[in-house]
Amino acid sequence: MSASAADRRIRSLRPPKTRVDPYAAHGSLLEEERRPDGKIERALTVFLAGAECAFTCSFCDLWRWTIDGPTPPGALTRQLETILQALDDPLPDRLKLYNASNFFDPRAVPSEDVPGIATLAASFAGVTVESHVNTIGRQTLAFARQIAGRLEVAAGLETIHPVASAQLNKRLDLARFDWAVRFLSENGVDLRVFVLLGAPCVAASESISWTVRTVEYAVERGASVISIIPVRGGNGEMERLQALGHFAPPSLSQLEAALDLCLQFTHTVVTADLWDVERLPACEHCRSARIERLRRLNVIGRAEPRIDCSVCGAA
Ligand code: SF4
Ligand SMILES: [Zn+2]
Repeated sequence: MSASAADRRIRSLRPPKTRVDPYAAHGSLLEEERRPDGKIERALTVFLAGAECAFTCSFCDLWRWTIDGPTPPGALTRQLETILQALDDPLPDRLKLYNASNFFDPRAVPSEDVPGIATLAASFAGVTVESHVNTIGRQTLAFARQIAGRLEVAAGLETIHPVASAQLNKRLDLARFDWAVRFLSENGVDLRVFVLLGAPCVAASESISWTVRTVEYAVERGASVISIIPVRGGNGEMERLQALGHFAPPSLSQLEAALDLCLQFTHTVVTADLWDVERLPACEHCRSARIERLRRLNVIGRAEPRIDCSVCGAA
């Protein structure tokens, strides 16, 4: 994919990248996650180090966790082996392999490593990998056949706001999204969807409603799990857009409002992404209580009273 003027601008505004070791995963996280049937799974997320994504989305800061150049063959299997060897029993139900890029891009996941990764993943009932919808296809099915468990692909829908979607520089076409969703479903592969809260070029007053509409779009197409991700600043491009009045960092109370509204979708698991949640603008007095409430909602998926705060008063 050749670099466009937007790609070059976004890249030029980035702060320096710290060096990443291609043979050491960034870490792992063990969490409880709800599935659409109500079952609570133990899910292990492994944050793999590898090549940068070929796309250059305006809001993305995942490039910070990537190396320059392609992933060396053998690096991902070594990272995964090290994480799995350190695990205590019992083994989690799900393995999520997040490589800050696209799993089906051979520059990010060398083809020769795929069988080894499948073998390492053999004991898990579910395996989740992330991919731009444009790289979902033949290789997805090949990997689904190699793993013992059921595959789930996590893909960014981000926003269906027509103007904002075009400005994300994601090269995401809703028709292609719909095709990929049908393709996964027809082949017994589950779909997890990322939806943005605070997408640039969406008016702040409409931010929550566009997030909910985008979640609804993914629900109607059969997503199993949808994660609402507040857009973070810090990659340079977001600061440029903020200075132009096209981006306002979303707040913790907006995240709560969006999740509360999405609990109406009872056949799909909708959660708030709590990575770096401490950075979201919020009242210092009730921030922790609000974050704990979101953690509970993520797991139980049922409405709970809002936090009533004597300082900010927001309920
Ligand atoms: S496709 Fe995903 S990883 Fe790639 S630039 Fe966009 S948001 Fe970042
Ligand atoms: Zn408060």
